[in-house]
Amino acid sequence: MAPLLSLDKVSKTYFNGDLAVEVLHDISLDIEAGEFVAIMGQSGSGKSTLMNILGCLDQPTSGDYLIEAENVAGFDGDELAALRRRTFGFVFQAYNLIPTATARENVEVPAIYAGVPAGDRHERAEALLNSLKLGDRLDHRPGQLSGGQQQRVSIARALMNGGRVILADEPTGALDSQSGQEVMALLREMNANGHTVIVITHAREVAEQADRLIEIRDGRIIADRTRKRRAVPDAAIGLAQRTREGFAAIADMSEAIRMAMRALRANLFRTILTLLGIVIGVGSVVAMLAIGTGAQDSVLSRISSMGSDLLLVRPSMANFRGSAGGSNVTLVPADADAIRDLPNVAFAVPEMTSNVTLRRGNVDYQTTANGTVPQFTEAKSWAVGRGEFINRKDMETYAPVAVLGQTVVTTLFADGTDPIGQYVLVNKIPFQVIGIMSEMGASAGGTDRDDVVLVPLTTGSMRIFGQRNIRTITVKVEDASAIDLTQERIQALLNDRHKREDTQITNMSSVREAFTETSNTMKLFLGSVAAISLIVGGIGVMNIMLVSVSERTREIGVRMATGARRRDILVQFIIEALVVSAIGGAIGVVVGLGTGYAARYFGLPVAFTAGPVALAFACSFATGLIFGYLPARNASRLQPAMALSAD
Ligand code: ADP
Ligand code: MG
Repeated sequence: MAPLLSLDKVSKTYFNGDLAVEVLHDISLDIEAGEFVAIMGQSGSGKSTLMNILGCLDQPTSGDYLIEAENVAGFDGDELAALRRRTFGFVFQAYNLIPTATARENVEVPAIYAGVPAGDRHERAEALLNSLKLGDRLDHRPGQLSGGQQQRVSIARALMNGGRVILADEPTGALDSQSGQEVMALLREMNANGHTVIVITHAREVAEQADRLIEIRDGRIIADRTRKRRAVPDAAIGLAQRTREGFAAIADMSEAIRMAMRALRANLFRTILTLLGIVIGVGSVVAMLAIGTGAQDSVLSRISSMGSDLLLVRPSMANFRGSAGGSNVTLVPADADAIRDLPNVAFAVPEMTSNVTLRRGNVDYQTTANGTVPQFTEAKSWAVGRGEFINRKDMETYAPVAVLGQTVVTTLFADGTDPIGQYVLVNKIPFQVIGIMSEMGASAGGTDRDDVVLVPLTTGSMRIFGQRNIRTITVKVEDASAIDLTQERIQALLNDRHKREDTQITNMSSVREAFTETSNTMKLFLGSVAAISLIVGGIGVMNIMLVSVSERTREIGVRMATGARRRDILVQFIIEALVVSAIGGAIGVVVGLGTGYAARYFGLPVAFTAGPVALAFACSFATGLIFGYLPARNASRLQPAMALSAD
């Protein structure tokens, strides 16, 4: 029968830059199942290198290594990981426990990668620790255990998946002689139970306890003595056969998330700083888009309240250029009458404005007088609050009547008198108040639209305004679908009447379009500012992950030695990055919504929509994935033997 482990002319050369150093020379060695072997040699003689090759943590440079007659050179990464997981158990001089995990969790690591269900895992780990007299230390972390206790935890870990072959590299090297004796006794006991045990040591008194003693010097075997040959049963736990495991996901996702949380808690301050980057990024995306959308909605609703069947005729700006104070006669009341006669025109409401002084009793008040026509209320969607509005008869009779805005009412009638029926002086001319407008509030530009007195256009132009210029004509069309044609007709009509193009007509739907376009550009701008901060946050994640990987190189080595596939390591670190960015994203969403509500509390229009919130969270998640990938890949590409020897 083929030996369990067989080295045939194995050499190992390390390459440091151009320098190649051969540290093992043509080593040939057979180890049978059930043997208790010590490999002894001075420091630097190549013992650890040999053990790494035996444990499939490293590959020989030349020569063959056969496990039960199968050449490991033909194994791929996953198969080697499976081999380590099922066949080998490692015990190191420095224990190599994961510092953030408890004793029980450390023992369970190999079983996680073997896909053992959590319940079975806990039970077996507990049983092993109990049998190693650590039953009362299950939840202690390595830092809370003595060296001897830590080494016993690592022995339990080596046995977790069966540990058919125990490879112990200087297991007593860091221990006092008493603890060292205990560890050797344990190894002997394990051998008696059928485990093949290979102990590496530089100490003769340790080596003497083995049944077979192999001496190695400068990478060559110089002696190989079997002092005692015993027929021991092979444990045959875990079979060293080639296995192809499918691309199963990491053994236990919740386990990976817990490991991630633990690693993040271990460096709480650093984690918080990294979170902050993501929180600011996501929070600003959510808040900025909520405020931007709110502002846009409020302006749009005001524009729509003006109606999509309205056209606004004004003297064009170009007309004022070079003329003093806009004194050119452009729009006149007769223009409004002419427009009214065009087809598809429901009405045309001209407005003439001027600053005036109102007086009641001994109170003077400066406000704006607006001379207009009865359809004003309809054109502006502005209802009369109380009393009546100007009617046709008032127009025809040049009646001295006025309708007051709310601001004017509160100023002139502060004494509580009912204004309706009262007289006020407009530029010293008495007008009787016939109505009060409902409250309109401030315009988008911030001007108080209630600070106005409305009078009939006829009366106003004769007795107040003194000039015949019309400021605007609001035109309502009957059929909104033909509004463009009507707009052209009005423009042609006015050009013809004025013999030049001195008016401009705006269409509310085009105003709306232009506004939507600019505000979308604005939102895009805000969004990209926020996105940049998210990228900055992502760089923070990448930074913390790179640091984490280099700090935890040894842990990665241990995980690989206990059977983690490269994929497991990759997934674990990506999950860590995802946990950071998901927590950061969730807090960021809360902060962003909070900022939005605060802004709303202070009077800003804010609109929360699910889209940007989901998008921001998804972006933070993607950030974790993208920026976490590189560090995770670095981690997964480490060579197990190299990772284990990292400081
Ligand atoms: P031992 O365990 O017997 O003390 P090692 O196997 O660790 O010896 O090392 C054998 C020799 O190989 C030493 O000279 C050491 O410096 C060298 N060596 C070990 N690991 C590396 C490496 N990764 N790169 C280069 N040289 C190494
Ligand atoms: Mg060594």
